[in-house]
Amino acid sequence: MADQAFVTLATNDRYAKGAMVLGKSLRNHKTSKKLVVLIGPHVSELSRAVLQTLYDEVRLVDVMDSGDTAHLAMMQRPDLGVTFTKLHCWTLTHYTKCVFMDADTMAVANIDELFDREELSAAPDPGWPDCFNSGVFVFSPSNETYGKLLQYCTEHGSFDGGDQGVLNGYFSDWATADIRKHLPFIYNMSSIAIYTYLPAFKQYGANAKVVHFLGKTKPWSYAYDPNQRRVQGNVQEASSHPGYLLEWWSLYCSCVLPLKQ
Ligand code: UDP
Ligand code: MN
Repeated sequence: MADQAFVTLATNDRYAKGAMVLGKSLRNHKTSKKLVVLIGPHVSELSRAVLQTLYDEVRLVDVMDSGDTAHLAMMQRPDLGVTFTKLHCWTLTHYTKCVFMDADTMAVANIDELFDREELSAAPDPGWPDCFNSGVFVFSPSNETYGKLLQYCTEHGSFDGGDQGVLNGYFSDWATADIRKHLPFIYNMSSIAIYTYLPAFKQYGANAKVVHFLGKTKPWSYAYDPNQRRVQGNVQEASSHPGYLLEWWSLYCSCVLPLKQ
């Protein structure tokens, strides 16, 4: 449907690489939805040009420049910069429903069925399952909700310093109100599960539809040798995301790099 979209965010060229792979992964799995990427002013011209070829809409969000309530909120909470930028997705009111996905996620199957869910649907966070993980969530753009979120942010801040703390504070009944708003973990499978619950990963991991490279080290932080098809660097860390890291790099090399030439 034309009025539904996947949305991601990249404030710099590193996260833009993630957004490129994410966009390509959604296209490869033949999504029928629009693709939107929110970018910050620090994203280079080259990255913007590549994103233009993969996304239907590349939208510049400059919270510092906006001269509106977001700017005011930002002045009061400078610590929450990227968070305010992410909340901007609620202003995409030319869509009725959207699915936000972090730039460090990758679709490994078609996930258009997520649009059957309502705001705010998300999967449990592996670290604290009564909180949802804000790397993948279903929402309904609305200027009213956007205003309320900014207000919440300014008044209460974020208990974890990021968007996940704000969103869990605002949508605080997620854990108990409606089980249909709990997305199965396979829609936001973080590789953390591989070492926190290996038997479950062995049992269910093959069903994963979205992989989330949550944490400090992102796929683009590693060096990759395209000839040997091997990821270099901290091998122990890399081995906790077995094939997915290679899949991310192989998409990057085969589908994204050629666009940069
Ligand atoms: N992000 C960004 N620039 C930054 C940090 C974060 O654009 O400098 C966006 C990006 O979409 C990223 C999301 O915010 O995926 C959340 O951050 P991250 O994925 O690093 O957090 P984690 O999932 O590891 O908690
Ligand atoms: Mn993430």
